[in-house]
Amino acid sequence: MAIILDGKKLRDKLLEELKLKIDRLSEKPCLAVILVGDDTPSRIYVNNKKRAAESLGIVSEVFEYPGNVAEEEIIKKIQELNADKSVNAILVQLPLPEHINSRRVINSISPEKDVDCFTDTNTGKLFAGQPPAVYPCTPKGILLLLDEYGIDLDGKHVVVVGRSNIVGKPMSMMALNRNATVTVCHSHTKNLAKITKTAEVLISAVGEVLIKEDMVVKGCIVIDVGISKNSVGKLCGDVDFNSVSKVASYISPVPGGVGPMTITSLMLNTYDLYCEQKKRSL
Ligand code: NDP
Repeated sequence: MAIILDGKKLRDKLLEELKLKIDRLSEKPCLAVILVGDDTPSRIYVNNKKRAAESLGIVSEVFEYPGNVAEEEIIKKIQELNADKSVNAILVQLPLPEHINSRRVINSISPEKDVDCFTDTNTGKLFAGQPPAVYPCTPKGILLLLDEYGIDLDGKHVVVVGRSNIVGKPMSMMALNRNATVTVCHSHTKNLAKITKTAEVLISAVGEVLIKEDMVVKGCIVIDVGISKNSVGKLCGDVDFNSVSKVASYISPVPGGVGPMTITSLMLNTYDLYCEQKKRSL
């Protein structure tokens, strides 16, 4: 039976340490979040982020806009937040409505306040092997989880399923920067199972139950990023946990694996941006 990569336990440990650091600050870090439209999951994610921030003493400001808001209005708000010294970190909750050019909006965030490492400047640094302002939250959380369990990616074959700008691409680049041999799969990949069976570490970020026992070799380390619902409406990931956990050496559950680590990374990133901005202003 696989060892569970317990994201909740690590979250509690890291956030307790972070709270002690924030308690010692006279001024508190501030995270600004932009939420557009009334997408229910986005609202839930934003509320969870706000709750986590406030429990640590991070100031969390949410700016809400209706789904038909003009792109320019959001960009104007971001420019105000960029100029506001009391705001350290800016996050635009994705997805944005279709009439809005998401890249243009994201690239209007100052790279120094880009808490999710989404701007072209920061992703460019990541791809060039240079440190960005902070690392993208979900891949960073996954690496923190692997580190906690002493799992070293150096020389390992890492297979990433999914190539989004948020998870798959930065994850593959961060694994490569840790000297893993990386294969990235997506919806056009032929014979996915043949490739996943060569993985020593399998990271799945798709959003449907896809990874079954016969796609994983014995001893594989399995990271499940996906969030979906099974046939009876229960929250689950991309991985068929019950069968795959019998062959994997380590496995992250859904819920309780990568999800808590993503929020933890967001809090750590907000604090790191705050510290960096304070250092620069000295
Ligand atoms: P996207 O929808 O942007 O990307 C999904 C990726 O999966 C795409 O690259 C797509 O390929 C690929 N894909 C789809 N179907 C298949 C298939 N049958 N075989 C192989 N690849 C396939 O999603 P995100 O990256 O934003 O998120 C992925 C999942 O992770 C979602 O469930 C999301 O909710 C979850 N998530 C969880 C987080 C957490 O903290 N736990 C954080 C962020 C996301 P193609 O590019 O060809 O379309």
